[in-house]
Amino acid sequence: MKSEINEDNLSIDMKPFAQQLQGATDTDYFYFFCPDCKNSQVTRILDYEIKEDSPDNPYNEQTKSKAARGFTILFHLFCEKCNYKGKVKVSNLGFRLVS
Ligand SMILES: [Zn+2]
Repeated sequence: MKSEINEDNLSIDMKPFAQQLQGATDTDYFYFFCPDCKNSQVTRILDYEIKEDSPDNPYNEQTKSKAARGFTILFHLFCEKCNYKGKVKVSNLGFRLVS
């Protein structure tokens, strides 16, 4: 299966921080941990933006599963403990992270 990671879409200031931003689920909710705190400090999501919302999904042509739509949602993260501020995108159109 083709990887969802599309590094061609990453600009210079949109460096992936796979080693820095991690998260976990609790029941059916997903939480982002602060990349600066080392004790699994959960960040607050202060806001979100719908960056892309399309009735089509280009990956449907390449995969056996069919997404109902194509979307990208950007979350504004904040750590109450250390004041970290960051943004992360969740998308089924590609894999992009910004800080
Ligand atoms: Zn923190």
